[in-house]
Amino acid sequence: MFEKLKPDQMVESVCNVNLEELMRRGIFNIIIDLDNTLIPWGDEAIIPEIYQWVKAGQEMGFRFCIVSNGSFKRIRHFASKFGVLVAPKRGKPLSRAFKSAMLKLDGNQHNTAVIGDQIFTDILGGNRLNLYTILVEPISKREFIGTRIMRFFEKTIAKRRKL
Ligand SMILES: [Mg+2]
Repeated sequence: MFEKLKPDQMVESVCNVNLEELMRRGIFNIIIDLDNTLIPWGDEAIIPEIYQWVKAGQEMGFRFCIVSNGSFKRIRHFASKFGVLVAPKRGKPLSRAFKSAMLKLDGNQHNTAVIGDQIFTDILGGNRLNLYTILVEPISKREFIGTRIMRFFEKTIAKRRKL
């Protein structure tokens, strides 16, 4: 059971996923989570660095397919912005969601990876099908920490000004 919760790789952001290394492993299909992996949770903004990463991957020959448990309207909206595919089925970590993405990508267990920020949906679902799994840190959490650090500096600077 615990083995199925273990990702093959852990990185801070999708931008840190080494695409050349995936290619060397024979992987060129990527099943990717939406919220907190591709875009910040509850936000409509696309982070330019992440957009560039997807585009660079596509130029290298990678195909992407979003698997999300969110609303299809929202998923399709972002899929068209990124120019990627959408899995016709939801319900992560159930295999049907990942299988529907693999069908869409025309991928198999040897050439497909899963990238997501949730162990119990993205990683468990991918490992169940023996796919290569990569865990990223949730974007919002990263931003939250960044904001906290900024606030700390802002307060420190404000205090100094008062002196
Ligand atoms: Mg997520």
